Amino acid sequence: MQPGRMFPQLALRVSDYTIAVGAEAVGRWALAHGYSGAIDEVDERAFTWVSSGLRSAMPDSATVERLAQRGYVTLKTRDEERRHVADLLRSQSAEKSKGASFTVILSYDCDFRCVYCTQRRLQQKGHAYLEHGMSDETMDAMFRFMESHGEPYDVTLFGGEPLMPGNEHRVRRFFDWVRRQKIRVECVSNGHNWREFEDVMTPELVAGVQVTLDGPPEVHDRRRVGLGRRETFWAIVDNVEWALRRGISVSARINVDRENVEALPRLTQIFQQRGFYDFAFSANLAAVQGNLVMSTDKLFERGEMFHRVLDTHARACADTEPGAVAFNCDYLPGLVRSVAECLAHGKPLPYRTSYCGAYTNMYVLDPHGRLYACWDFADDADNAIGTFHPQVELFASKVERWRGRTEGMMLKDCLACRHVLLHGSGCQAEAFRRTGNYFERDCQQYPEEFELAVRFALGDNKIRGRTPLYPTAAESSAGAARTRLPLLR
Ligand code: SF4
Ligand code: SF4
Repeated sequence: MQPGRMFPQLALRVSDYTIAVGAEAVGRWALAHGYSGAIDEVDERAFTWVSSGLRSAMPDSATVERLAQRGYVTLKTRDEERRHVADLLRSQSAEKSKGASFTVILSYDCDFRCVYCTQRRLQQKGHAYLEHGMSDETMDAMFRFMESHGEPYDVTLFGGEPLMPGNEHRVRRFFDWVRRQKIRVECVSNGHNWREFEDVMTPELVAGVQVTLDGPPEVHDRRRVGLGRRETFWAIVDNVEWALRRGISVSARINVDRENVEALPRLTQIFQQRGFYDFAFSANLAAVQGNLVMSTDKLFERGEMFHRVLDTHARACADTEPGAVAFNCDYLPGLVRSVAECLAHGKPLPYRTSYCGAYTNMYVLDPHGRLYACWDFADDADNAIGTFHPQVELFASKVERWRGRTEGMMLKDCLACRHVLLHGSGCQAEAFRRTGNYFERDCQQYPEEFELAVRFALGDNKIRGRTPLYPTAAESSAGAARTRLPLLR
């Protein structure tokens, strides 16, 4: 059959949700599709045809048919495509809203005072407020609230710092309940006091723990400030090793901005020297977000973050033999792995229609008996979505503010975005801090991150010899000094 007769040529067009990524350096090309979830390596002719809006030489009919089956070219109108995406967003959001996940805050107190902490405002309320932990009565109400949602329980112990001196009674009472429920919980902790909780820090009770390490000791200790302590890094690293040897999975979150991104290779060396990767250990990068208190000068979005990580490694390799400096693949977007898997096995890209549980089924339970949707807004009474003590009550307008993101924002502002079903609109807390609006997008340079992941999966992953995209911090400040000099004269 002639290609031109297979479909009414005039109506065939590139889908609004097609994402074309060329890895020219290695001569490979891919197409992905935002609502079918398809991702395929294609030849240059097909890639160019689609990228040019069907204006270049047409591929053979079998290829055109395949491109249409996968959704990259379509007979659907723009409105039909948007209606389809809207239906998917609604059904996925309804699906995600089933069940419940719980984040438990037994006390807001913490023995660290990190510069970028999102609870800075809360910490300014002073000791008496922070030390008010959850009472036994409130804790019993919390247990009843969680049990009323039925299994399976998905519970995370959060803070403040949950595992700190002064919180022992609550922590042990909480883990007694965990034992009775025969579940395991996740825990987010600063990692400083784990040995004092040896009886509950067991793999039978703790499925995994997330700890924050911000760089090698001199960098970490400047950013993760322990109250009354000048150094916290080595104590945390020792505890990580201790927990790993006990069989607990540990994930190190590394909060990164322009100030510490260049220190990542030295942190990797420490992970290697301590043998962490022989156990259930992983690391992941998070771009530091604003907290309405600190300066935002050094912050960047995720796209820039990943490129700076690659720049840093390229510089570290510049005067060394190949293989002398190890690159930690945990510092790449998690997307690299899933995109590579989908490309290799013909699997669909997974939808991420809700960026986080705050928009669907997460309840943050605080020491005062209040319920929140988002942990960054815990203790902000204006954002409480209800209470679990002294009575269970939901506040309709606040529930709508947090659980209504799909209808209130995504179906309007993100609907035309080809990444909408893959990115899920970003972090509402960060969007609010930046713009003052809750229903605002937080793109986080996701399109750049996605493109980087596809290029890597296609084999365009040569870091050594890469030309850096961004200046180092030293080059930036030298540049700033140069531009300031004429003003000083
Ligand atoms: S937040 Fe931005 S990148 Fe994410 S889905 Fe919406 S428009 Fe797309
Ligand atoms: S809205 Fe942002 S800060 Fe809040 S829970 Fe979701 S990702 Fe976390």
